[in-house]
Amino acid sequence: MYEKSFDSEGSDSEMSNKLNSIERFSQWCRSSFFSYFPSFTMSTGVLSRLSTLTLSLQQLGQLPHLSNWLPRLPSPQATVRASEVPSLFREPYIMTGTSRLTLTVASLPLFLYVLSSLTYLSFSVAAHLLQSHSELTHYSLFFLDYVGVAVYQYGCSLGHYFYCSEPEWRRSLVGALFLPGAAMLAWLSCTSCCYAKFRYRRPYPLRRKIYQIIPTSLAYLLDISPVAHRLVTKSWDDPVLVCHALQVAFFMLAALFFSCPVPERFFPGRCDIIGHGHQIFHIFLAMCTMCQLQAMFQDFAEHQESVVEVHGKHFIYLAAGSFFLLVLGSVLTAVLMRGAVQRLLRKND
Ligand SMILES: [Zn+2]
Repeated sequence: MYEKSFDSEGSDSEMSNKLNSIERFSQWCRSSFFSYFPSFTMSTGVLSRLSTLTLSLQQLGQLPHLSNWLPRLPSPQATVRASEVPSLFREPYIMTGTSRLTLTVASLPLFLYVLSSLTYLSFSVAAHLLQSHSELTHYSLFFLDYVGVAVYQYGCSLGHYFYCSEPEWRRSLVGALFLPGAAMLAWLSCTSCCYAKFRYRRPYPLRRKIYQIIPTSLAYLLDISPVAHRLVTKSWDDPVLVCHALQVAFFMLAALFFSCPVPERFFPGRCDIIGHGHQIFHIFLAMCTMCQLQAMFQDFAEHQESVVEVHGKHFIYLAAGSFFLLVLGSVLTAVLMRGAVQRLLRKND
């Protein structure tokens, strides 16, 4: 079966191209690892595991068609020598592999997207780790978590709009109303999640989930529309579309585990520490963000030269300004809801 596929694939040079791309991938993994963790001391065990990884990737590359599905990752050439950056950014004994990131008008939506991802992840970690400190802390941190969700929704919308959308989609009615609609729905998601948290007590009625799920689902449907349009109208030969398809698939799985209390419903008491549905939801959401980040970087790399020309500098600034307005509006909503909780708790005392 292997020989048949190899023959139908064509020449040796094609196979060696595939092996080269796999080798570049493993080189990129190693160079990225060293540039992000320059002072990491590697034991022989770790080194041998890395070389096993290289070997396995090479073997994987021998499988026909597989390399077509591997995303095209940035080459190590995207980094520069230590001597090419100011001494502030250098690390002792690190000669190459330093990243040089400059914030330009074209990269502003990408920066806001990355900032929004970090915000939602940090707020979510804070909420889950510290929520049981006191009743007021519990409410305050979950309100902050919903601010993170709204900020992330709008961060994704900016990235999708400026880097991942097709001109014909931008000319449609959805494209024209996309950014104001996405900002409005992001704020609505935050507000209705805060309200549902404040309004309902355990055992939670179904209405609480509806308050959480409906605005969030509407926001997602709009935010993903430029990507969905591309997935439907373009050929999936482009590896970036595989990354986008994966981000959608992981989000669907995350939404499923967010909405249904499985597997704990079938094994009460057995998923208390590991395996709880909400943990599975967060794992799938993190995988969705990873695929989205990879896809966004690839789309940015491809379109960065034309972004300002296509959208105009002032429109990008306006969109960035609306991001901070959304942050302000969501934080204000959370602060007001916290005040309402505080008054209620005082009354109950
Ligand atoms: Zn959570």
